[in-house]
Amino acid sequence: MPFIHGVHSPKAALKRLKDGNKRFVDEKLLHPDRTHERRITLVEAQSPFAVIITCSDSRVVPEVIFDEGLGDLFVIRIAGNIIGSTELESVEFAVGVLSPRIILVMGHENCGAVDAVVKGQTEGIPYIANLIEPSVVKAKSMHPENLLESSVKLNALQMSELLLKSSLIKNAVNSKTIAIYGGYYNLKTGSVDILER
Ligand SMILES: [Zn+2]
Repeated sequence: MPFIHGVHSPKAALKRLKDGNKRFVDEKLLHPDRTHERRITLVEAQSPFAVIITCSDSRVVPEVIFDEGLGDLFVIRIAGNIIGSTELESVEFAVGVLSPRIILVMGHENCGAVDAVVKGQTEGIPYIANLIEPSVVKAKSMHPENLLESSVKLNALQMSELLLKSSLIKNAVNSKTIAIYGGYYNLKTGSVDILER
């Protein structure tokens, strides 16, 4: 019998992420699921309870931020936490095969990729910038106090909306087997804010 995670609902999955993040913020880490026994359990199959799409930035490491271990998180990291066709296929694979209960698209404070778009310095990242651009345009129109922070948050929400282009993911959301959230990681405090739409 392959290992199956014991997280039965999107609500429980969100709580588990929040609890792990609180342990990280409070420096009360449990470092779960890193033993030889855990590795053996996972040899035949994986069953991560969460899909995390976040930035490649070295300061934003999901297993650390949420105090999780092997087999817990299905992670896609790419500059600017964008969702293009390859990232979308990766999420579809996870949702279709691995039964996660939550998808979190997580941007972060001082994201270099988003900042490059805000500043119009996108020479080296045309494809990435193209996907981030609409969120920056929208943020500018709102005249926020902090344009970069606002752009990062809108980008995370926009990317989470993009996931619904997939009928497989949309069906999973509609049947309430999975929920999608946008998030914002604060570099200094270590806390993750769940974003309101
Ligand atoms: Zn970044």
